[in-house]
Amino acid sequence: MNQSLLHEAEYYDVIDEEEQIVQCHLCPFECKLKPDEKGKCLGRMNITGKLYSLTYGHATMKIDLIEKQHVFQFFPNVRVQTFATYNCNLNCIYCSCSEHARIDPEQITGKKYTPDQVAMFGIASGSKVLCFGDSEPLIAFEWVRDAAKVSKEKGLKVLLRTNGFFNEEPMKEILNYVDAVMIEVKAIDNEGYKRICDGGDFDLVAKTMKLILEKEIHLEISIILHEKLDNDEATVGVLANFIKTELTPEIPLHLVRMLPAYKTMDLTPTKTELLEKAYEMAKEVGLKFIYIDNVPNHQHANTFCPNCGDELITRTALSTEKRRVSLQGRCNKCQSPIYIVLK
Ligand code: SF4
Ligand code: SF4
Repeated sequence: MNQSLLHEAEYYDVIDEEEQIVQCHLCPFECKLKPDEKGKCLGRMNITGKLYSLTYGHATMKIDLIEKQHVFQFFPNVRVQTFATYNCNLNCIYCSCSEHARIDPEQITGKKYTPDQVAMFGIASGSKVLCFGDSEPLIAFEWVRDAAKVSKEKGLKVLLRTNGFFNEEPMKEILNYVDAVMIEVKAIDNEGYKRICDGGDFDLVAKTMKLILEKEIHLEISIILHEKLDNDEATVGVLANFIKTELTPEIPLHLVRMLPAYKTMDLTPTKTELLEKAYEMAKEVGLKFIYIDNVPNHQHANTFCPNCGDELITRTALSTEKRRVSLQGRCNKCQSPIYIVLK
């Protein structure tokens, strides 16, 4: 094991001193690990009776517009510095970053960043928002927490893109250092999670979403649709009802087109008609902000005022134009408050 990868993990117990067995409490899989065993995520390992995070500081970095992170109502059109960590606790068949998500940490050759460097790069690049996303950032929990904390202290906003399948205590801790969260819902029941991700639990992800809302952190939700996943308009009806009744109908819902990747290379991209039917379903349920996402120039990538219907933000494949919403987050035409963060 490359020693530079090692950092003692938090959120674990030694459950058998003699046999040096530890149990990780970061996510609901609660892996019990003998010495030299890695967890289901591959990113955490028992070494001589202690649990280590194997990827502390290892990430790739890129800059793009926030819309590329599928977040539409949190500082629209700003530049975001995104750090992509390694490994994931789920194994989604359509994962577009499986080379990051399924890598053995011993094969990682990329750069290492200290938490201070993360903030420094964010400031130097002129990005207002730092994003931890692409693959699952919370597997590198300790590093993301440390980097998010320093970045917030330096005045940057922090966006987290996560599958939300984590235990309450670590989730509560990380949320202290986060300004916005995109939760990528995979299915609306455990059968769906098993089929698409080889594990996971909708009710536990729902608990994470409620926690985010309780903490008054900006939340957006996405789901990838495809008939071969059995994620269709009926699925969206159930999800939209959950959002409306258990969260709030203000939360933006992104209906995302699947592009073939990883184990879905033999499928065609999601048909636009399916996304449009799902859009109508979410609208019928009463959600206020619904997006068809990953379909360039679709009119439902735009933001409309839920009260007067005026087009507030126009999005094309190449640009985002804020047109008719005030800095205080009100529709310019009818003055209704909009669920949006602009300052
Ligand atoms: S974070 Fe990884 S090691 Fe820990 S319980 Fe989840 S899958 Fe297992
Ligand atoms: S949760 Fe995201 S990173 Fe993890 S396997 Fe699924 S798509 Fe890939």
